[in-house]
Amino acid sequence: MGRYTASVCRQCRREGEKLFLKGDRCYSPKCAIDRKPYGPGQHGQGRPRKPTEYGLQLREKQKAKRVYGVMEKQFHNYFEKAERQSGITGENLLIMLERRLDSVIFRLGLAASRKEARQLIGHGHFTVDGKKVDIPSFLVKPDQEIEVKARSKESAKFKEIQAQAAYRNPPDWLELDVENLRGRVLALPKRENIEATIEEHLIVELYSR
Ligand code: SF4
Repeated sequence: MGRYTASVCRQCRREGEKLFLKGDRCYSPKCAIDRKPYGPGQHGQGRPRKPTEYGLQLREKQKAKRVYGVMEKQFHNYFEKAERQSGITGENLLIMLERRLDSVIFRLGLAASRKEARQLIGHGHFTVDGKKVDIPSFLVKPDQEIEVKARSKESAKFKEIQAQAAYRNPPDWLELDVENLRGRVLALPKRENIEATIEEHLIVELYSR
């Protein structure tokens, strides 16, 4: 599957805001958007042009794709599913993205970023309800239990994650047992539980053109 290969921080600078794609570095003075608060490339410091309505909608979609690390085709599939569900399409879309296993592991504090979560999942370090799951796009459901595999818990990497997770607060819809490196999905997330600064109605407008 394709992945974004451009500098990760360049993606934030392109969107003009922190997308928190690099874990701890995003909270440090090394964050590129704090050091270079203007767009990337040779025209990055020029006078910004007024975006068109289409431009705004497109940027919002790009931002959501970048935040969740999802490529175009998969993102469009999520949108089509969201449209078929009852309720508000934009909210359904964000809730589905937030339910991805990579996002949940990041939210639980068991990875420093969604990107790191994807790598850890791909290497088979997690189980869901006791069964190994190595698919980052796996969608979690209420009452499911996500746990670091027994052997992985002893690794230096997960000892470090455990120490850091103790200082992270998962959102209300998730619960973390730091000592056992085990999380539980208490409920489906609601729009207000999703921190990302995405104006999902713009994405719906874009796909409805
Ligand atoms: Fe974005 Fe994080 Fe890079 Fe800052 S350090 S520009 S928030 S990815």
